[in-house]
Amino acid sequence: MNKIGFIGLGNMGFFMSKNLAENGFLVDGFDLSENALEKMKKTKVDISKTFENVCKNKNVIITMLPNGNAVKSVWNDAIKFINNDTIMLDCSTIDINITQDLHKICKNKSIKSIDAPVSGGTMGAQKGTLTFIVGGSKKIYEEVKPLFDVMGQKSILCGEGGSGQATKLCNNLLLAVTMSGLGESLKLANSFHLNLEKFFEVISTSTGSCWALNNYFPVKNIGPISPADNEFKPGFSSKLMLKDLKLAKKGAEENNLKLDLNNYVISKYEKLIENKKGEFDFSIIIKN
Ligand code: NAD
Repeated sequence: MNKIGFIGLGNMGFFMSKNLAENGFLVDGFDLSENALEKMKKTKVDISKTFENVCKNKNVIITMLPNGNAVKSVWNDAIKFINNDTIMLDCSTIDINITQDLHKICKNKSIKSIDAPVSGGTMGAQKGTLTFIVGGSKKIYEEVKPLFDVMGQKSILCGEGGSGQATKLCNNLLLAVTMSGLGESLKLANSFHLNLEKFFEVISTSTGSCWALNNYFPVKNIGPISPADNEFKPGFSSKLMLKDLKLAKKGAEENNLKLDLNNYVISKYEKLIENKKGEFDFSIIIKN
């Protein structure tokens, strides 16, 4: 289980593949971006010159890609080159239906597949403390768990294929809403001319505390280090957050649900993107 093909070496894939390579796995990496490949040169990850090479003779292929269409196209190509017993593992956050379709395609070809989107952001990826939110069979989960144990500190099998993605979308909806709520609370605090260090100290141990505040406080030089300390460089970009919120909306509509807060944060992220801020970290929503 130690030969890994890692496809998608962006903000998350860079650290995840690096951690695997530093912990005894033989990792071949592949990305379409020259810039991403250049950064990998400083790590123990080998760069595959061709897509075919990254897929061939691997125990596991991991994809960490920006959206469902990229995952669909990469998986459909990869299954032409992989061995019979290679496991296909997607860690991107994508459409539940695409995930389920890909599991079906794999099942029909007797290929083992599993979805495991992650929570914890680039900091969690860097420190190896991600949470893997897994959908698939218990047997495949147990086979790939040693990889989760290196790249993260927790993995939870949520149910059958696709349930990892579904759980992840519920998480991101709540994250966007709490970050947006934190922005409003900060606006009020500023209007009262409050000391924001004291604001952080109080609320991080009060009933308003939440991950967005405790672990990602979006104010420069206060609380833990976060993208706010680095001009809101991602991290997790606003455009990726909008993608996830729209996936949550689509999932809700398929189940005849209207989610008012989700619709509200979607409109805020759409405005950010109109204002050319899509590449900034999602926490920049506090300024909107
Ligand atoms: P990113 O845009 O930084 O990286 C994606 C990488 O995939 C890029 O380097 C891009 O060149 C590459 N790529 C795109 N299409 C490709 C293809 N066909 N073949 C090979 N490479 C291709 O994105 P990211 O922030 O690393 O996020 C990746 C996924 O993880 C997304 O689905 C995102 O929603 C999810 N996610 C991100 C975070 C975060 O904090 N950044 C947290 C949790 C989940």
